[in-house]
Amino acid sequence: MTDPVTGVRDRGLAPGGIRRDACPLCSGTDLRLRLQVGGRGLLECNACGVRFTDEYAEGADVASYYGTVQAHHGKADSEDQFAAIARIQADAMESIAGPRRHGRLLEIGCSRGHLLTELEVRGWDVNGIDVAATSVTEARGRCRGEVWHGEPEDCPFEPGSFDRIAMFDVLAHLPHPVRTLQTVSSLLKPRGQLVLSTVDEAWPLVPVFLKAFRALPNRLAAVQDEMYEGQHYCYFSHRNIGQLLGEAGMELAATRPLTPLSAQLFVHHYPVRRRLGLLAMRRLDGLLGSSRKMLVLATRRA
Ligand SMILES: [Zn+2]
Repeated sequence: MTDPVTGVRDRGLAPGGIRRDACPLCSGTDLRLRLQVGGRGLLECNACGVRFTDEYAEGADVASYYGTVQAHHGKADSEDQFAAIARIQADAMESIAGPRRHGRLLEIGCSRGHLLTELEVRGWDVNGIDVAATSVTEARGRCRGEVWHGEPEDCPFEPGSFDRIAMFDVLAHLPHPVRTLQTVSSLLKPRGQLVLSTVDEAWPLVPVFLKAFRALPNRLAAVQDEMYEGQHYCYFSHRNIGQLLGEAGMELAATRPLTPLSAQLFVHHYPVRRRLGLLAMRRLDGLLGSSRKMLVLATRRA
C-alpha cells in the first residue's frame, strides 16, 4: 500500500510464525526486550549485543514474500534511479575492497540485476542469487552471467570459485545469518573478499531513538519504521559483526560508515519536517564520522 502523503510504499512485515528464543549469533538465552516492532518484540542478546525479532520465517514463505515487495520499498521509481543506486554500490565496493575489476564475482540478493550489470560493464565475470522468481527472470535478461533462483545454501556454484561476493542490504533479512555466511565463506576462494552493507546498530543515535520510540510510540511510528523496519530479522553492528564473520570462517578486514540511500537519493519522498530531520542527521553523522548504515569488508581465511 502506498502512503498518499509521502508516496512511499508501505514496508509491511516480513513473514513470521517461527519463535526465536535464542540469539542467532551466539545462541545465548540471556535476552531482554528493547522495543515492539509491528507487534513483534525486538530482543537484545546480553552476551553479544545482537538485536533480533522474536519471530521469523524461512524457506518458501520468505521467498514468496520477496516476490511481492519492491526493492527500496518502491522509492526508486525509474531505471535511471536503479542505475544510480548500482553505481553508488559499485563505487562503495571499490572504495573498501580495492579497484580490482576482473575475476569472478557473485552477488547474493541481486534483485533485478542492476548492480550485476554495472559490475559486468566494469570488467567482472558476474553471477547472482535471489529468492524472488520475477527478479531472477529480469536479472537473467539483463546480464550475461548465471543467476540462480533460490537460497545461497542450495546454489549450484562450485565451492571456492569466487574472488569476491557482494551482499548489499541482505544480512538483516536473513533468518539464519551464521548458516548463510558459512555458505558465503565456502563459495569464496581462500583470501577471497566479501563486501556487505547493513544497518549499524552501534550508531550513536540508536539509544536516543530507542528511548523516544518507547516514550512516544504513536507520534514516532514513521521514524521507527525507518529505523526498525518490519522486513528485518536481525541487527548487527560494527562491534559484533567480526564475531559473526569469525563463526563463518572469515576475518573482518574493515568497517566504515555508509550514507543511507534514503539520504542520498530519496529525500524528496518525505514530507518537509522529516526531510529536514534526515538532513540534520546526515550533518551530525558527518561531524561524528558515523552512520546508521555500515559497509563491511571480510576475507575468507586461507
Ligand atoms: Zn548473542
